[in-house]
Amino acid sequence: MGYRIGIVGAGIGGLAAAALLARRGHAVTVVERFVSPGPVGSGLIVQPVGLAVLDAIGAGADARDFGAPIARMLGHAGARRVLDVRYRANGPGLALHRSSLFAVLWQATQAADVNMVTGAAVVGRRGGWLMRRQAAEVGPFDLLVDASGAGSVLSPLKARALPFGAVWATVIWPEDTSLPQDQLTQRYFRAVRMAGVLPIGRLPGDAVARAAVFWSLPVSALECWAQVDFDGWKAEVAEFWPAMAPFVEGLRGASDLTPARYSLGGLVRPHSEGLAFIGDAAYRASPQLGQGANMALLDALALSLALDQGLDGALARYAAMRRWHRRLYQGFSALLTPMYQSHSRALPSLRDLVLAPLARVAPVRQVLTALVSGDVLAPLAGLNWP
Ligand SMILES: Cc1cc2nc3c(=O)[nH]c(=O)nc-3n(C[C@H](O)[C@H](O)[C@H](O)COP(=O)(O)OP(=O)(O)OC[C@H]3O[C@@H](n4cnc5c(N)ncnc54)[C@H](O)[C@@H]3O)c2cc1C
Repeated sequence: MGYRIGIVGAGIGGLAAAALLARRGHAVTVVERFVSPGPVGSGLIVQPVGLAVLDAIGAGADARDFGAPIARMLGHAGARRVLDVRYRANGPGLALHRSSLFAVLWQATQAADVNMVTGAAVVGRRGGWLMRRQAAEVGPFDLLVDASGAGSVLSPLKARALPFGAVWATVIWPEDTSLPQDQLTQRYFRAVRMAGVLPIGRLPGDAVARAAVFWSLPVSALECWAQVDFDGWKAEVAEFWPAMAPFVEGLRGASDLTPARYSLGGLVRPHSEGLAFIGDAAYRASPQLGQGANMALLDALALSLALDQGLDGALARYAAMRRWHRRLYQGFSALLTPMYQSHSRALPSLRDLVLAPLARVAPVRQVLTALVSGDVLAPLAGLNWP
């Protein structure tokens, strides 16, 4: 039997859940605050488990058509190789611009007959109804899904703000670079500086190869990023990592880069009476392990499978399916982030002198591949998936 399901947020998790649930015969309405929903920010990596969810939605082929397959993540501190993780030969990551991911998920919801209510910011709930400010309530629904991300007004999650964030930009892949187009390449200085170049394939509507570039900054510097001496910053980039210079050459000012802040935390129980929390509304991490979008995609799939056995007990089944996988990634994110983004001197030394050599030895190497791929533990407990 199909249920009436109201989803808050047309982001990665909300659109994925909408497409999956509508394909299973539920009557789905997505309520999104923006009049023209669209992604904010630059590129990201959809890991192999996230790609398997896109395949289940029927959006995998289109996503691969836009994105760049990523075979390796390579990071150096000076001349020292401190990060080197290779994906399995038959399971690369897929880096793409948020707007490409948004486009394929949006298309999937349109094909699945999802009802979209846009320009409607949800301010609360009343039973199975979604409340809007000075506008009619939307509903009633048998089940509500909060997929409204890090700024959710429905989620009780109090995440801890992390001391570092980054500025991000999308640029055209320059001709005069020797950086490979199937690799995330990073440079570090201790944990106070981290810069990266991620190939992200092409955007919807054009054929130009692009990259996402990022530059880590403490939150205090992010706050005054708009006033940065931009030519001075470009000179700093060129001195720190000459290979990154051609990528930032075409940027004209601070407003060409978007500041992003990160936080960490998760709900012990990702549901309450008649309401499921998925994606960043349920738990947050820094992008260090590149798993946020994957977690939202996996949550969406778990919720849709949990509902197959009826509404009764579905939220507990959803939570049980995702519990240990989420906790493991939360834990690793909390552990690894300060090694790459913090004021600590001891942690990056541990990273460079102990963990980096260890990571080259089997079976640690294979464990890291599984960790990054998203399947170090069954992503959906109790199911042999993907
Ligand atoms: C800089 C950066 C880099 C990242 N890199 C990666 C990566 O490489 N790999 C990866 O897997 N993850 C990455 N992530 C994490 C990933 O982007 C998030 O985890 C993911 O977008 C979460 O999806 P979501 O659906 O929960 O929320 P979102 O995608 O944020 O969507 C939330 C939606 O809800 C809407 N909304 C919000 N409030 C309301 C309201 N009150 N009423 C109605 N609608 C509302 C918003 O407008 C938005 O459309 C990165 C994050 C950042 C910031």
